[in-house]
Amino acid sequence: MSVGEFELIERFFHRALPERSDVLIGIGDDGALLKVPTGQSLVTATATLSTADWDESSGDPVKLGRKLMTVATTRLAAAGVQARWVTLALTLPEARVPWLAAFSDALFQVSVPLGAALIGGDTTRGPFTATIVGHGLLDRAVVQTKPRCRAGDALCVSGCLDAGPQDQTAADGQIPVALGQWIRACGGVAEDISEGLGTAVRSLLRPHALGATVELSRLPMAAKLRRQLEANNGWLELLGHRDDTQLCFTLPPGTDATSGTPAAQEDKQKDKQGNHGHWTRVGSVNSSGILQWVTADGRLFTAPADLQANLAK
Ligand code: ADP
Ligand code: MG
Repeated sequence: MSVGEFELIERFFHRALPERSDVLIGIGDDGALLKVPTGQSLVTATATLSTADWDESSGDPVKLGRKLMTVATTRLAAAGVQARWVTLALTLPEARVPWLAAFSDALFQVSVPLGAALIGGDTTRGPFTATIVGHGLLDRAVVQTKPRCRAGDALCVSGCLDAGPQDQTAADGQIPVALGQWIRACGGVAEDISEGLGTAVRSLLRPHALGATVELSRLPMAAKLRRQLEANNGWLELLGHRDDTQLCFTLPPGTDATSGTPAAQEDKQKDKQGNHGHWTRVGSVNSSGILQWVTADGRLFTAPADLQANLAK
């Protein structure tokens, strides 16, 4: 069964929850109208899925919906921002009711617990593409101190890495907002790992032409996976693996993680901050302009050029 655009929006995207008093006009005929408090700056982050993601998941609406909303809101979280408002641009070859019902439910499963309201979008026909733009607020005083990474910073990863098929998108409440806020307050910089750890590390270093050494033996993962990767030198798979909810981040030297410095806690995953969750120091930032992945026996793991790039060039 196929539905028209207006009915589609009313039926699947126009929902009562969450109620937000700062949404003066939400989904309707006009552009959305939002109340931004004085002294706050608007922060936005975008996530897009396309036919490649559709093929990967065979069009599974639950996976696609969760992933899309999770990545957009995690990107805001990496900036220390909680999502308040989101918009959705959706292009579908055909508007099928069961697919739309499952897709929209999956989106709201991630956004409602965050208190983020869907305030509008656009819907068109064509090959699958879906884009969420998430919006949130940052205090102006916080915005003024723009975080940046520097040589000497610790390089860290939250949670536990996986190299298996992408199937671990956030269930309710797993968007790392508290961690992102804490990193920002410490003067660190965070990136989401939704395009792989290799890409995230490069994104952190590139703006400043910095380098880093990452010790593969420190990457947080299950012991079984580590044995597999060590046995078949399968690190590339891990570095390219997309994880929608974890962050890769830097922390300035001597950051007080309430119970000590990152350097003193580097050995294994520990619950550092209660609700900030687990994170592990995996390496350090340096001024070499070169990103090096070092194996447990001290050898360099040779990643393809784009993961091993000389960032100074
Ligand atoms: P327009 O004629 O301006 O393109 P639409 O019929 O596309 O208007 O949209 C009507 C209303 O529904 C607008 O408020 C728009 O923001 C909202 N909307 C359209 N598509 C979506 C969507 N996929 N998700 C949420 N809101 C949507
Ligand atoms: Mg339209």
